[in-house]
Amino acid sequence: MNDYYKDLGVDRGASAEDIKRAYRRLARKLHPDVNVEPDAEEQFKKVSQAYDVLSDAEKRRSYDAGSDPYGGASGGFGQGFSFSDIMEAFFSQAGGGAGRGPRSRQRRGQDALIRIDIDLGQAVFGAERELTIDTAVVCGTCHGDGSQPGTGTRTCDVCGGRGEIQQVQRSFLGQVMTSRPCTACQGYGVVIANPCFECSGEGRVRTRRNLSLRVPAGVDTGTRIQLTGEGEVGTGGGPAGDLYVEVVVTPHETFQRRGDDLHCSVELPMTAAALGTTIKLDTFDGITDLEIKPGIQPGDIMTLKGKGVTHLRGTGRGDILVHASIQTPTKLTPDQEDVLRQLAVLRGEERPVGRLTPASNGLFGKLRDAFLGK
Ligand SMILES: [Zn+2]
Ligand SMILES: [Zn+2]
Repeated sequence: MNDYYKDLGVDRGASAEDIKRAYRRLARKLHPDVNVEPDAEEQFKKVSQAYDVLSDAEKRRSYDAGSDPYGGASGGFGQGFSFSDIMEAFFSQAGGGAGRGPRSRQRRGQDALIRIDIDLGQAVFGAERELTIDTAVVCGTCHGDGSQPGTGTRTCDVCGGRGEIQQVQRSFLGQVMTSRPCTACQGYGVVIANPCFECSGEGRVRTRRNLSLRVPAGVDTGTRIQLTGEGEVGTGGGPAGDLYVEVVVTPHETFQRRGDDLHCSVELPMTAAALGTTIKLDTFDGITDLEIKPGIQPGDIMTLKGKGVTHLRGTGRGDILVHASIQTPTKLTPDQEDVLRQLAVLRGEERPVGRLTPASNGLFGKLRDAFLGK
């Protein structure tokens, strides 16, 4: 009895897909058209026979039960050998096979991708944008069918409307019927008698089209907005593809975005950091007062809840996070230096030098009170 599993190099539990794959691989290698080894044809017949049995659930079952449909004879094709299955396994990727009929002239249009720049404020709240796109639209003259108005199509007289030409080829397996697309009609089965002047029979023309787009709040660089059916229309009046709009958010001079939070930094004079103050922050919701508590440290973060970017999915908004940085004065007038030295003395940080001058008395007093918590 033949060992068909061994012939195909698969194990007994192999799936139908495994068997098909194994056969296709071996057939490509052993096919007499490509393999000139003297026993290639014999090998090819052997694996084809194995495939014939194992690819048919019924035959495989009875083979597994101990009955060989080929009766132990190797190398011959018995009754019931289904050649079409083999051709199908062999050629299915090449799109061969009989009885497909004419193909449709209609093709789905291609998807298109365009990029738009938006600023951060538009990302925070969303925006309305007018787009101009170069695309293909249905031909206004023939409305997509490709014929001059008033004329139609005629059946291809080369293939008789089947869209394909059948040929009988001799092979070592006997006569094989193959078919290929008809070149006279490109496989459509019908010929456009008078192609439309406007579109040369394609059924579509290239043009510029305006489109208004609602950019949703919360988009970020890389977000793609899909506009179904807004891509190029297909040939022959086929459906349109989709348009994808990819967003690029331009950098903002104050805020850096991290997720839906916006980060910025404020530089505080040393005295303001020590004494506390209120600063005005220009946010996307307008000017907002930000209270700086006395004694703020470099790197401290103040949060403005819900003033960040709108969440693209769900509701609510991110926050604004303000990072404090503190400026140390680099140039001091003698008076200022004097005041600071006096302050240092008061805080026990330095020994006294010089004398307190009346001009700096007021400021000194204020600083001292602040540091002493009065
Ligand atoms: Zn046209
Ligand atoms: Zn034809």
